[in-house]
Amino acid sequence: MTLASAPLSSTAAQEPDWGAARQETLEHLQAMIRMNTVNPPGNELQVARYLDSTFKAAGIETHLFEPTPGRGALVARIKGNGSKQPVLIMGHMDVVGVERAHWSVDPFAAEIKGDYLYGRGAIDDKGMLAANLETMLLLKRNVIDKGGTLSRDVIFVANADEEQSGEWGMGWLITHHPELIKAEFALNEGGRVRIVGGKRLYVAVQNTEKVPHTVTVTAHGPGGHASVPLPGNAILRLGRALAKISDYREPVQVNATTREFFARLGAVWPTRDERAAMADVASSDPRRIQRGARILGRTAVFDAVLRNGISATILQGGIRSNVIPTDATATLNIRTLPGQSIDGVVARLKKVVNDSLVDIAVTSRGTDAPASDFASPMFAAIQESARALDPSLITVPYLSTGATDSARLRVWGIQAFGLLPFPLNQDDEERMHGNDERIPLASLEFGTKLVYGAVARVAR
Ligand SMILES: [Zn+2]
Repeated sequence: MTLASAPLSSTAAQEPDWGAARQETLEHLQAMIRMNTVNPPGNELQVARYLDSTFKAAGIETHLFEPTPGRGALVARIKGNGSKQPVLIMGHMDVVGVERAHWSVDPFAAEIKGDYLYGRGAIDDKGMLAANLETMLLLKRNVIDKGGTLSRDVIFVANADEEQSGEWGMGWLITHHPELIKAEFALNEGGRVRIVGGKRLYVAVQNTEKVPHTVTVTAHGPGGHASVPLPGNAILRLGRALAKISDYREPVQVNATTREFFARLGAVWPTRDERAAMADVASSDPRRIQRGARILGRTAVFDAVLRNGISATILQGGIRSNVIPTDATATLNIRTLPGQSIDGVVARLKKVVNDSLVDIAVTSRGTDAPASDFASPMFAAIQESARALDPSLITVPYLSTGATDSARLRVWGIQAFGLLPFPLNQDDEERMHGNDERIPLASLEFGTKLVYGAVARVAR
């Protein structure tokens, strides 16, 4: 597939040689997929070294770190003229494990079958690393080496340990080398370019995310021999509490990001009742918002962006089949909307459960981060880049229900945006962390152009 791309009127920048760039991006991605970086243990250092030597060969400044044996961090930088603050493009080198028996190909062979490249990490997140790497190489060759300038430094970061704790990843870099990665804007994973009905429909740019917390619900009761049933049985008490929680839903809350998301998406959405519901949710009329939310709420992923979400995840209680335990606990994973208090959610749950022998406690709290500004030059650059590639594509700001490294950056004062730049349909997107993960070759090319176009624009 050939893709239209409007020329960039950047300083000295002509359109890159996309035929050569397409092949080069593919080869880098294949090389990185073939390095097994399943975390744990990670072993990301091999990919960091590969990136280091690739950048060095191109004459780009690099900083290679080994935060702990076998783990790697790589920072590369192309200098601008300093008139604007740097922009950071980032990706993680580790991948999640595979259920080998469920794959139709070797997950680490980077095999091309039909119009797809298969392999663990193809879309999460080595594809983005490859697109970011190619963006750096093209900026160097196409702008700097031709005597052009950039208005800002462009910083490339490849980090480890995103799929586990992050202890050896972005958190480590922020703690140990903040001076190397401080930037005004960052481009990370976390968004999507969605194909619906075979057509590229929208680019969702994540500018904020839900905040994850862990909450336990513990019911207490008298212990004893199971031969004498006790009405205060802790397990049954917990069951009654959970039944009330399962019937309860947090109120609908529309923030600036979700209002804009549904307003813009509603303009192109294919089904009529959902299109109307999106317009309702984006309105400022409370009754219309409730009506729209009822319809959109039938779709779990839409419902999850409209309210604080409560998922039960673990049950514990009892030690033997003939002993009544004195307590039983359920673990809830609660995701609050940005700016919402977890203590407020817990206070409402206590009212709903209304039982003095049931304790509800927060055992771990996520960090709330300010949203990145979707009226910023970075967002505009992504939007222009998308439009140049496909004039029918709309770009929407997006609240993700999952947590990303971008939250750390936002707390630290960087306006981070999440962009998985490869057009994917629902099926291909669901292969992320699943079996037969793959990237359409045309989407790899599109995504590389999208990232390059966005970075070249924001740094011109
Ligand atoms: Zn990822």
